[in-house]
Amino acid sequence: MASYFVAAQPQADGTHSVHDRGRCPPGHFPRPDALEYLGEFVEPGQALAVARLRFPAARGCACCACGETSPVDQPDALTPQRT
Ligand SMILES: [Zn+2]
Repeated sequence: MASYFVAAQPQADGTHSVHDRGRCPPGHFPRPDALEYLGEFVEPGQALAVARLRFPAARGCACCACGETSPVDQPDALTPQRT
């Protein structure tokens, strides 16, 4: 089982990233006050399904590979956010 969280604040593209607490690297995981706890799940897809009840645009975070597809196939997910 892994602990999953969803970012309360949308990213620049309007999506809310879903993170696996145990796999997301420090520094990328959102601040505690900008997260909502989803629960403990065996499959990342279960966490995504729950996240989408709250945020229809939720999707897996590429850094912790909890997306539905390989991050290698989503080069846009690896693009650093520009400020
Ligand atoms: Zn992450």
